[in-house]
Amino acid sequence: MTHKYEFESLLRWSLKKLDDHTATISNKLISRLGDLGGRLLILSVQLQMSSLATRIEDSWIQDIRSSDPTQSQKALEAALDIAELSPIHRRFHGKVYYTYLQAILNHNKSASIPAENPVEFINHVSSKLSGERTSRLYGGFWSLSQLQVRLSVPPQIKSDFSCSCAASPCLVAWNEWWDEKLRSLNPPPQDPGDLLQRIQALALSGICRVNRRRDSYHSNQPTKVPCSSKMAAQLGEMMKTFNDTLPDHFMIPSE
Ligand SMILES: [Zn+2]
Repeated sequence: MTHKYEFESLLRWSLKKLDDHTATISNKLISRLGDLGGRLLILSVQLQMSSLATRIEDSWIQDIRSSDPTQSQKALEAALDIAELSPIHRRFHGKVYYTYLQAILNHNKSASIPAENPVEFINHVSSKLSGERTSRLYGGFWSLSQLQVRLSVPPQIKSDFSCSCAASPCLVAWNEWWDEKLRSLNPPPQDPGDLLQRIQALALSGICRVNRRRDSYHSNQPTKVPCSSKMAAQLGEMMKTFNDTLPDHFMIPSE
């Protein structure tokens, strides 16, 4: 028994050393570890060494983003081999599929979710992955497409805002602001995560009444609506929810 604990503390100690060391070097080095990278990820998750686990995961995500489709797919499959081992990796599992979906869209320039030509997208994927992985990818693609369509109209703002937006200019401003910002995104958003992230960044400078009729009597300086900061905070929550629910889009089991 004592040996078991000694071993565990030795393991913990060496992972801690590795964690400290990798904090100062490029992410790429971890991905060069190959199979060892996977074992390190499993150990660091089991021992709840979250900073090391996050670093290994991030390096994997970076590899999946590769501009070389073959490299990207290789990194995807290696990451899925680990992620599929246990629901403990569920969050990473969802992010892996989402990143690969984005990589496919990047490899096929001008593609986006929903795809203008879903058949082409499906052909691109189907020849390369196993049946279950392919269906998760399709499922995720379909589910994210639905979300993208829902976001093409302004999301409902919370009714508990103190100035009771329904009766105030806030609601009108929010709807007009959303429509206008969405239209102005150039290039158009590639997927709902991209859309939310860019809209959220625009909200940081304040949500203002969209000035449709500029008249000379009033200043053209836009003024923030009373609930601007609450709306920006709501966008922050939507972004968080998006990231938290990524595994659901790809139907990744929770146990
Ligand atoms: Zn308001």
